[in-house]
Amino acid sequence: MREWFDLIIIGAGPAGLTAALYAGRAELKALLLERAMPGGQVMTTSEVENYPGVGKISGAELCMKFQEQAEMFGTEFRYEEVRELELEEDVKVVRTYDNEYETRAILYAAGASPRPMEVPGEDRLRGRGISFCATCDGAFFRGKETAVVGGGDTAAEDALYLARMCKKVTVIVRKDKMRAAASLQRKLKELDNVEILTGTTVAEVLGDEVVEGLRIRTGNEERILPVSGVFAAIGVVPQTGLLKGKVNTCNQGYIACDSNMMTSIPGVFAAGDVVQKPLRQIITAAADGAVAVNGILNYLND
Ligand code: NDP
Repeated sequence: MREWFDLIIIGAGPAGLTAALYAGRAELKALLLERAMPGGQVMTTSEVENYPGVGKISGAELCMKFQEQAEMFGTEFRYEEVRELELEEDVKVVRTYDNEYETRAILYAAGASPRPMEVPGEDRLRGRGISFCATCDGAFFRGKETAVVGGGDTAAEDALYLARMCKKVTVIVRKDKMRAAASLQRKLKELDNVEILTGTTVAEVLGDEVVEGLRIRTGNEERILPVSGVFAAIGVVPQTGLLKGKVNTCNQGYIACDSNMMTSIPGVFAAGDVVQKPLRQIITAAADGAVAVNGILNYLND
């Protein structure tokens, strides 16, 4: 027999964890399913300084606080990977690799994953000098020269983190300026061991067994940048897999929701980085989770 819940939340990033908190406080019989570790992308963020009320905090510590608070109010957490969803109007079935559950509402908060660079050498050298997480892998490049590819907040934060331990960090930005927060850009410019190359793209990652350099292109000129680590920070791709072809999405693949965070399928809600919206931050993901539970309560009461 399938176990039954009022609400099943898929994903334990800031959106899912906030929803778990709100669902617990609303005394819903809610289950949160997470395939790996709670926290999502925030776990790989070295320092967060724009989440109000907590000052400067490491991503991992903030995640722990989110989880502790969410668990306090009774939402159940299980570590299972969802493999299939059946989305009928009245009852929805969630199949993991271990169990099957029934629920009236689903909150899909599966987040996003790092966008690959899609350049020659990337597939061969991923994990052999190419990384998508500076805080996870930075220490392997202590005293070495590294490059960060991208011009957003993630690239800036990665470069700041790496500059503490690497001999030199080159930031490769395809446009003529970075789009990262001004405060992060200012901090980067203050560092002697950080160089920002604008108008520059990566043409190839070089190396047989491990990364030995990058072939980079500025205008019509190409040159070799000798680095042993490459950190790709060029944005994210929404992890919409389980809902692909089922709910409406925008042209970049993000899920389209109404103002209650409900998707085009009644009873299926989405929140966080999988959703189409103008600003992807921890605080907007958390806010999505809260708004979604409010919408879910109304949906269940109807
Ligand atoms: P963004 O989408 O903000 O930035 C991606 C960067 O990569 C841009 O500079 C973009 O260039 C560049 N880029 C994209 N594709 C390529 C490519 N193929 N080759 C080279 N460069 C490329 O991604 P982030 O991961 O930085 O941030 C995602 C979201 O998370 C943002 O909303 C950000 O604000 C948020 N965030 C917030 C943090 C915080 O609040 N503490 C920390 C980290 C992220 P271009 O400008 O030319 O498009």
